[in-house]
Amino acid sequence: MSKLGLYVHIPFCRQKCLYCDFSSYQGVEHLFAAYTAALCQQIAEQGGVLCKSVVDTIYIGGGTPSLLPVQLLEQIMSSLYANFHVSNEAEISMEANPGTVTRAQLSALKAAGINRLSFGVQSFNNELLAGLGRIHQATDSLTAIEYAYAAGFNNISIDLMYGLPGQTFEGFAWELEQAVAVNTSHISVYGLKLEEGTPLAAAYDRGLLKLPDEATEEAMYDHMVDFLPGRGLLRYEISNFARPGLECRHNLKYWQYQPYLGIGAAAHSFLNGERLSNVTGIPEYISAIFEGCSPVVMRETLTNDQSMAEYIFLALRTSQGLTVANFSQLFCVDFFRHFGNIFEKLQRQDLVETDSRRIWLTDRGMKFGNIVFSSFLPD
Ligand code: SF4
Repeated sequence: MSKLGLYVHIPFCRQKCLYCDFSSYQGVEHLFAAYTAALCQQIAEQGGVLCKSVVDTIYIGGGTPSLLPVQLLEQIMSSLYANFHVSNEAEISMEANPGTVTRAQLSALKAAGINRLSFGVQSFNNELLAGLGRIHQATDSLTAIEYAYAAGFNNISIDLMYGLPGQTFEGFAWELEQAVAVNTSHISVYGLKLEEGTPLAAAYDRGLLKLPDEATEEAMYDHMVDFLPGRGLLRYEISNFARPGLECRHNLKYWQYQPYLGIGAAAHSFLNGERLSNVTGIPEYISAIFEGCSPVVMRETLTNDQSMAEYIFLALRTSQGLTVANFSQLFCVDFFRHFGNIFEKLQRQDLVETDSRRIWLTDRGMKFGNIVFSSFLPD
């Protein structure tokens, strides 16, 4: 049986963070129950279509899934188990905002089958958290992680950010010390990006935001990629670090070109070489499902050139890199014959390396990944 990953999108947040352009909404609690019912209906329909697949990863992301009442999350989990063939060994992750969890809730979620939690910690500095418009404080993160351990979770991830307004190099080095001290199995670290249309980007445009300069941000990055592996959290993707064997198997599917089904508003799927996106609005998603229409609003079959480029840059995001034999088998093309000129140019710039079986990004390539990725895009 083929393997499948499931992504379930929960598009609710208590309050929009000032930097966030994800598909999530605040103040729509009245839609919780109807949205959950629509999710369960889509799960039932898709479970019938994909009955020949074994689900070996599930990722409930958002938004803030932990904002949904436990009974509704339990309904979603029951529906997933009832309609898909979920492997006993499946990795089942849920994102949680530290300001929205209780001990009883986490125990119930563990009992419902969730076995991995990802906390949006972002920072252990209350001033920086307030500057991002986060609803939680540093102590909430510590308490949430403590609750998770008490509930029996032993696969816990935290997200951190760097390059924040007002953040110094020393401040970020301290953040990393705090992150390692809570002893989680996985850490994702992202540089702040000012997304168009967000309040933080508007504040920056008005000159109201003081960001670390480029050299400081680069020093933060250099310190992070040196420090975390030194503490046993090995880098397995550009922004992701894990204790050996505890890499996020669901996210690896994205980078390894494996199929996944997205359930819910704004969720994306990759099935049979096709990329699909669901309608983003919550009411529109609910209506589509209950009117018996497909929630899919975008469907794209990539050309062979696009598929090869996408495969290459997704694989190169990982430390494992691209396995030349797998590429040849999938596309019936010899990598070096087809991309030799591009590869050699990037190799001369110390961005990629090979042992002829695999190709991977050098340390410099990891830092300047965009140069590499854009080189492989078709004209
Ligand atoms: S909690 Fe996450 S999804 Fe929600 S607004 Fe903040 S960053 Fe966006």
